[in-house]
Amino acid sequence: MELIFVGYPGSGKGTQAALLSQHLSNIPKISTGDILRAAVAAKTELGLKAKLFMDGGELVPDELIIDMVVQRISEPDSAMGYILDGFPRNIHQAQELDRVLLNYNRPILGVLSLEIEKKKVIARLTSRRVCNKCGHLYNLISDPPPENNICGFCNGEIYQRSDDKAETVLHRMEVYEEATRPLKAYYGSQGKLIPIDGSLSIEKVQAEIVNKLTKALAQFELRKNERAAYRQRQS
Ligand code: AMP
Repeated sequence: MELIFVGYPGSGKGTQAALLSQHLSNIPKISTGDILRAAVAAKTELGLKAKLFMDGGELVPDELIIDMVVQRISEPDSAMGYILDGFPRNIHQAQELDRVLLNYNRPILGVLSLEIEKKKVIARLTSRRVCNKCGHLYNLISDPPPENNICGFCNGEIYQRSDDKAETVLHRMEVYEEATRPLKAYYGSQGKLIPIDGSLSIEKVQAEIVNKLTKALAQFELRKNERAAYRQRQS
């Protein structure tokens, strides 16, 4: 099952993709942001190049990202599908992904679009804190980290991502509007867009995702069976 999450930075894609991955048990969440941050921390060649763009809230150039994703989705744990979080981020990435998946005959099944007001995500992002070890997300308002800034789950250190600082957040929103928002029309025209109200609680958003995905899957199976029956009638 090949799925994509789209939505503003801070709309809850990472959280919901992780919950859905647990729910679907053998479908991994693949976050390009997480892969890049690991590369930055490890100071790999990719990490050193990517950091220049990430710190300013810019998209990392497509030629660094696309091969990285194609390689990741070819790994054995993706054999039953995957949930992409943070990719594609522009139309060129989406077209390249479609092109690669056409060769595998494994098209994207659905694109979950988390709908939420811009001002809400700006507040969320600027108050977001993250553990440098296990990646657990805290929020100064709704889920404050322990006072000593040591993660309650793994003893890692809690920090603010440099791209969650206010001026960078505003720039990331502009980048989203210009480069990423057009993906909704792109996948909408393929009949794959599944809008989700991202302003609700984590549990309610998760419930809506599971509910709408179940319906989308049923329709997908129906269309597949209809195509198979049509082919049989023609042969
Ligand atoms: P995220 O954690 O998804 O918000 O990503 C953090 C940063 O990583 C983004 O602001 C970009 O600089 C970079 N990044 C993540 N995914 C992509 C992508 N698909 N294309 C280009 N840059 C990306």
